[in-house]
Amino acid sequence: MLHHVRPVGILHSCFKEKFAIPRQPQLAPAARGVLELLPPFDTGEAVAGLEQVSHVWLLFLFHQALEDQPRLRVRPPRLGGNRMMGVFATRSTHRPNGIGQSVVKLDKVEPNRLLLSGIDLLDGTPILDIKPYVPYADALPDATNAMAAAPPPLVEVQWSAQGLAQAQREALRLGEPLVELIEQCLAQDPRPAYQTPEPERRYGTQFWDVQVRWHYPTPELIRVLEVVSD
Ligand code: SAM
Repeated sequence: MLHHVRPVGILHSCFKEKFAIPRQPQLAPAARGVLELLPPFDTGEAVAGLEQVSHVWLLFLFHQALEDQPRLRVRPPRLGGNRMMGVFATRSTHRPNGIGQSVVKLDKVEPNRLLLSGIDLLDGTPILDIKPYVPYADALPDATNAMAAAPPPLVEVQWSAQGLAQAQREALRLGEPLVELIEQCLAQDPRPAYQTPEPERRYGTQFWDVQVRWHYPTPELIRVLEVVSD
């Protein structure tokens, strides 16, 4: 049967680059985005009733990780990046059909867009489908996964006085919980697992239109140095 897979929407996300996006949804509740529905799904008909739902599943395309050659084994960062696992044993972005899935919080339903939070998706991600989360079927308290038994350990995030003042100013301008977003994402410790950071080395990423720069005074501590808009 000939069947075309076409996006139903495009996500406008706080995350403008891959670095420092949490590895799964819900880890950064302040991570917000707007899912713009594309025609013919943008009239309100396709989302009628969705306001009764607190969370939705997003099925999407890892559009910045598409590859011609399928990988059978990948190196999950969770395991330090030095152990190979079967691709189907992981949630790696390198997948045969490039399809991702995330449960995210549905903050508001509008006819042509959904306001979302707790996302782990890059800006511009094509959304292939949206489904309501069904707690009685989807929440499995007895489920186990020995590779990812608990959320990743957090590192402490401290602010320089300048960095905090800048972040608060930019948060007001954007109307976004930017201080919380930075704290929640950096606490996940975005550096590659195998890297022991030198204290002088600077790291950076972009949230919304803001550049965030930090360093590691010690391996378990992040200090935010600067938060500046372009
Ligand atoms: N929850 C989803 C899943 O399990 O399918 C995604 C998990 S994947 C490990 C999360 C990572 O995907 C993020 O940290 C980010 O670096 C990356 N990512 C998010 N959106 C992407 C996109 N559109 N293209 C490529 N990589 C993306």
